[in-house]
Amino acid sequence: MNTKDLVGVGIGPFNLSIAALCHDIPNLDVAFYDKKSSFCWHPGMLLPNTYLQTSFLKDLVTAVNPQSPFSFLAYLVSKKRFYAFLNNERPAISRQEYNDYLQWVSAKIDYLNFNQGIESIEFNDDAFDIHFDNGEPAVRSRKLCLGTGKRPHIPAALEAIHHPQQCFHAIEFATQKRDFSGKRVTVIGGGQSGAEIFLHLLSGHDGQPAEINWVSRRSNFLPMDETCFTNEWFSPNYIDSFFPLPSNTKHSIVDEQKLASDGISESTLKTIYEMLYEKRVAGEEQNYRLRPNRDLIASNYSGDYTLQAKNKFDGSMEQYHSDIIILATGFENAVPKYLEPLKDRLEISDDQQFILNRDYSIQWDGPQENKLYAVNAGRYSHGISEPQMSLMCWRSATIVNDLVGKAHFDLSDDCSFVEWRNPEREKIQELLSA
Ligand SMILES: Cc1cc2nc3c(=O)[nH]c(=O)nc-3n(C[C@H](O)[C@H](O)[C@H](O)COP(=O)(O)OP(=O)(O)OC[C@H]3O[C@@H](n4cnc5c(N)ncnc54)[C@H](O)[C@@H]3O)c2cc1C
Repeated sequence: MNTKDLVGVGIGPFNLSIAALCHDIPNLDVAFYDKKSSFCWHPGMLLPNTYLQTSFLKDLVTAVNPQSPFSFLAYLVSKKRFYAFLNNERPAISRQEYNDYLQWVSAKIDYLNFNQGIESIEFNDDAFDIHFDNGEPAVRSRKLCLGTGKRPHIPAALEAIHHPQQCFHAIEFATQKRDFSGKRVTVIGGGQSGAEIFLHLLSGHDGQPAEINWVSRRSNFLPMDETCFTNEWFSPNYIDSFFPLPSNTKHSIVDEQKLASDGISESTLKTIYEMLYEKRVAGEEQNYRLRPNRDLIASNYSGDYTLQAKNKFDGSMEQYHSDIIILATGFENAVPKYLEPLKDRLEISDDQQFILNRDYSIQWDGPQENKLYAVNAGRYSHGISEPQMSLMCWRSATIVNDLVGKAHFDLSDDCSFVEWRNPEREKIQELLSA
């Protein structure tokens, strides 16, 4: 059996970026597999009027290969929308348009394979054997890149009542036709997805609910910090400074940076506020409750849902009754099932995170030339940018350079204004280790 250089497991934007960068590298034998029938970016959250939280220039390829035929600008030109796009003058592109761009790229790369879920991966002799869930013959590869995303997080207080139609995660929101007319709906979660779903319900896109209850643990409906010095956390230099820090320091830094990645876009907050204001001007009956600073304690179902929450502002307990609950409660790490045969050989922390090397490969006890790279897995090793698309292309190029064993992409970048580390200390450490 032919042994490939790299197999990509899952084709979300992160592995698609790696696939796009591999395209023009001669003599590289790669293949990528996804269980979906074709590329689609979080279809359950492709709602109307939702926008990317990242610049379109931070696309799959541009930051390391602006000549690539897979850039967002190449897509615009090919779709004959270049001038219209500029005239539109939107600060952010819509998620629909970004998804269309990703689909356009995915249709141009012939080593992407859909309808091929990965069931299990083993290591035998000097390569990985990748087995599929559709009976297709296994493939063999020297290296892997794991890009199967994260698992939806269901809070412990709601685990028992999870239900596909009445109590479901936000990521499933638009996967089926829904009718909220006359229903009492609770949205849990004060991040961007919670805000978008609240806005969607308020706009009556899927019927006018009797009540929309928006509950968040955060002290208020807080904005994403997109200011310039905060954005320096999303630069290659920052990763170089962050990676060598001790693990407990990294954890506290990342937790403190939460609103740089998980806050609500200012434009979404403004649209919500304007809509609430206009409803008040029109004298419409108030069918919404905004409840930040609440911790969910318990839930039960008997005909309808009862949620119990602690109001952290005044210390009281509250109860809400709902017909439908939408969990905009984010995502969590989980070791994918297909890694079961290898799990004992990989370094995994107690909170189910892979322990990563600087080149994004997982530490393991197998031959070091056989690597399992992992994307979207290094929030606490490489920094806050990891789950975001800001440095996606730079990370992809780091992995591809390592794969081909040379600096195929020039990744030297010294543009940061901020001095994160003490340069004197670095010099002393260099002298000591010489
Ligand atoms: C609604 C939403 C909006 C976001 N917007 C932004 C934004 O504006 N800016 C930003 O920087 N970040 C954003 N993010 C965060 C992040 O960029 C995205 O989640 C991104 O999609 C992560 O890419 P990924 O490739 O890691 O995983 P995913 O996009 O989750 O893709 C994983 C793929 O793996 C496949 N898969 C899973 N298991 C298997 C298997 N066993 N075999 C084969 N295939 C499998 C899945 O079918 C899927 O296609 C957003 C996240 C969400 C949820």
